Amino acid sequence: MKPAQLLLAYMRLVERERELRDQIESVESLLASDPNIAHAEETLATARAEQQAIQLRLRESDRDREAHRTRLRSREKELMSGRIRNPTELMQMNQEVQHMKASFAVEEETELRLMEEGELADQAVLEASERLQEARTRSAGDEPGLRRDLEAWQSELAAVKADSEAAWAQVPAAAQRAYLRVRAHPPVAEVDRNQCQECHVTVTSSGMQVLRKGDDIVQCENCGRILVMA
Ligand SMILES: [Zn+2]
Repeated sequence: MKPAQLLLAYMRLVERERELRDQIESVESLLASDPNIAHAEETLATARAEQQAIQLRLRESDRDREAHRTRLRSREKELMSGRIRNPTELMQMNQEVQHMKASFAVEEETELRLMEEGELADQAVLEASERLQEARTRSAGDEPGLRRDLEAWQSELAAVKADSEAAWAQVPAAAQRAYLRVRAHPPVAEVDRNQCQECHVTVTSSGMQVLRKGDDIVQCENCGRILVMA
C-alpha cells in the first residue's frame, strides 16, 4: 500500500477503536446501573413517602377526633344533667355543643377525604412496586445479551488495536509526521472527481499528478487534510 492509503486504513482503524470504546463504556455503565431501575426505585420511594405522610395525617386526625368526641360527650352530659340552671349559662353551653357538633362534622368530612387519598397512595405504591419489579426482570433478561455484546466488542477492540499499531508501523516516518500535524478531523480525505471529499475544494492538476503516483503525501490546499485517491 502507498503511504496515503496506509494512513487512511490506520485512520479507519482508529475510528473503529473509538466507536468500540464508546459502546463498551455505555454497556458497562448499563450493566453497573440500569437507569430504568434507578428511575423506578425513585418513583417507588416518592410514592412510599406520600403514603407515610397520609398515614401520619390519618393517625393525627383520629387522635384529634377522639379527643373532640370525648369533650362533646361530656358537655352533652353536663347539659342534660340539669345541674346548670342559669338560662344564660345553659344557652351558652347549648351554643358551644352545637358549634362542636358542626366542627365535628367537618372533621369527619376531612377524615373521609384523607382516607380516599390514602387509598390512592396505597394504589400508587403498589403500581410503583410492580413497575420496579418489571424493570428488574427486564434488566435481568437483557443482561446475558449485553454481556455477549460486551465480550464480542472487547475482543474486536483488542484485534483493532493490534491492527492499527501494525498499520502505523508500516507508515513511512515523513507521512506519520504529516498525519500528526493535520488539525482537521478526520485527518485523511478521499479525492473523487478531483475534489477533496471533506471540504469539496478542487485539487490542482499538479496535486492530482502526485496523488496518482501515490508515493508522496499530498495535502488539501484548503483544509490541510492528507489526500488519497478514492
Ligand atoms: Zn479539503
